[in-house]
Amino acid sequence: MTVDSDTAWDIDYGCYTDVGRVRQRNEDAAKVSPDIFLYAVADGMGGHRAGDRASRIAVQTLHDYLANADSGDESAEDTVRAAFQKANRSIIEDASGRPDRMGMGTTLTALIVNDGGYLIGHVGDSRALRVRDGSIEQLTEDHSIVADQVREGCMTEEEAQNHPMRHVLSRCMGCEPDPEVDVLTGEVQDGDVFVLGSDGLTGALGVELMAETIMAASDAATASKDLVELAREKDGSDNITAVVVRCTASPAPS
Ligand code: MN
Repeated sequence: MTVDSDTAWDIDYGCYTDVGRVRQRNEDAAKVSPDIFLYAVADGMGGHRAGDRASRIAVQTLHDYLANADSGDESAEDTVRAAFQKANRSIIEDASGRPDRMGMGTTLTALIVNDGGYLIGHVGDSRALRVRDGSIEQLTEDHSIVADQVREGCMTEEEAQNHPMRHVLSRCMGCEPDPEVDVLTGEVQDGDVFVLGSDGLTGALGVELMAETIMAASDAATASKDLVELAREKDGSDNITAVVVRCTASPAPS
């Protein structure tokens, strides 16, 4: 993918993951590659170690595709969509003919920040949020059965939060041949902080607490660790992952 290496942003990033207090394995995966301005979180599912396999394949395939993509005339949005489809095929191929990997799938939420702004690719119920001027906003929509119901007006936010089916995805990587990929783009402002989190993070912490924790931390690495440790204290029933990306305008060259 074409990215301008002379980016206007100084990027401070942090990545932290924890198995939580209940699960035996961590099926979340994260990938931070500042060399290609890529930050990604995946939350895998499937028995017999298939979930952690799916999430790792997703972030690695996405990374490898973007690192080697010669986008030519293709837009950055199309390149990210193609990278997601490649990751999706890789998961399906890896599970093919392996009954022990049946039902293997994952969420995938990826952020690219460069001179041109930000770009998010997204499938599933991990989330991308942004803290700007002290207020936090969720940028992605969850692709879950209950979130779909809320959007259609068939369920309230409160009902969704405690619903027994709240973890069931309506869209995921590795579950169908050609999943629809949400691609969001926007401008970056000086001081913007992006957060990528698995549902073990976002389900345990309200957005205001997330924003407070991020703003209280001295740097992105501390912020990601503080978020995960707080989520573990408050819930910890799932794997927990946080990636924090702070963008500060580079000083003008003298
Ligand atoms: Mn999870």
